[in-house]
Amino acid sequence: MDVSARIEAVYAQVVDRNAGEAEFHQAAREVVQSLGPVLTAHPEYLDSRILERLCEPERQIIFRVPWVDDQGNIQVNRGFRVEFNSALGPYKGGLRFHPSVNLGIVKFLGFEQIFKNALTGLSIGGGKGGADFDPKGRSAAEVMRFCQSFMTELHRHLGEHTDVPAGDIGVGGREIGYLFGQYKRLTNRFEAGVLTGKHTGWGGSHARTEATGYGTVHFAEEMLRTRGKDFDGRRVIVSGSGNVAVYAIEKVHALGGRVVACSDSAGYVVDEDGIDLELLKEIKEVRRARLSAYAEVRPRATHSERGSVFDVPCDVALPCATQNELTEHHAVALVKNSVLAVAEGANMPCTPAAVDILREADVLFGPGKAANAGGVATSALEMQQNASRDRWTFEQTASRLASVMTEVHELCRTTAARFGSPDDYVLGANVAGFLRVAEAMEAHGVI
Ligand code: GLU
Repeated sequence: MDVSARIEAVYAQVVDRNAGEAEFHQAAREVVQSLGPVLTAHPEYLDSRILERLCEPERQIIFRVPWVDDQGNIQVNRGFRVEFNSALGPYKGGLRFHPSVNLGIVKFLGFEQIFKNALTGLSIGGGKGGADFDPKGRSAAEVMRFCQSFMTELHRHLGEHTDVPAGDIGVGGREIGYLFGQYKRLTNRFEAGVLTGKHTGWGGSHARTEATGYGTVHFAEEMLRTRGKDFDGRRVIVSGSGNVAVYAIEKVHALGGRVVACSDSAGYVVDEDGIDLELLKEIKEVRRARLSAYAEVRPRATHSERGSVFDVPCDVALPCATQNELTEHHAVALVKNSVLAVAEGANMPCTPAAVDILREADVLFGPGKAANAGGVATSALEMQQNASRDRWTFEQTASRLASVMTEVHELCRTTAARFGSPDDYVLGANVAGFLRVAEAMEAHGVI
């Protein structure tokens, strides 16, 4: 069988073995299909079945999460942790609490995480977890009881050298606090390195909260630089209004760009004066309210439930909300509006058809596993600080983050140039991540 037939066979097996897990199929397809040139150069990886091994998680944990709501009713959710690959270090990846969470979503996220974490060059394997719990409308006491129940089961699988979760959609500093408290109580250990995204007052790292958004903008800036451009004076749109979006907006503004639109699951706002970050933070982080509240306060801003944030003309688009939010139709609109660059702050926010349209139009496209790697990279820096019982300043951590992002960008380009063309960041990210993991797996024998 030739290389492309072997690759197709691996993909067919992924579909067959993981029936109905559409997002996992999508993520696996994108990676395996870009490996043709590297597998032709290294046929030994086909013989040692590295691809098949990579696509099969090392361990998948599914568990019941019972808890009592404020009315005294018993609620039951489903929890997940997919420990995908530990070739480069302890399983590392966030926890997502969202009603859409299922095994296929967790597997797609865990799979992406393997390559993303490898690209950082830091010692972290890939994993992901979460629950189909919907935190929306729940009181802090309910969220705490849910987190405690979730950790009561999950704790036996974790450890600073084993598996180190962090946040993702629906899991921020507050939830990490409740999860850590319960882990500490169950194990009687202040094992700071078992979770990242902790509060800076008790083991967290400076710049972790900002890291994913800052890193994404840094990556986009590097992409623009390859064409002699920068963020100064550019119109930018950011989808989402959560942690990644907020700090992406902050960084764009610091670089002289203007973010004119952002969104949440109920609509989007356009503010030609530039998004007022303090107001956005107050609405989203303090009040935990809808974005429509933004336009009530800023008279020149408009809120819309029709169309999409991606219809707003811009030079740079940063999708920072969730998977498959940017479709073919949105990509056509972006190209029509002469977008220069799209960098994924979320995981797999662009559909495969959208990515094809952007690439055909020669738009710079930074895939999430490279562009949003700053979050998990800073988690690895938090683990380093915990292991050495040290504490770095904000500046130290942020400058380390910036250099990791520059290195990730450079690695993507040089790898892409070696196996195709330098602007093909999808190829560069997949191949460079793959090579690091595959080399380690080969060294470890058949495991
Ligand atoms: N959830 C984030 C991601 O998608 C961060 C994971 C982490 O810090 O472990 O990369």
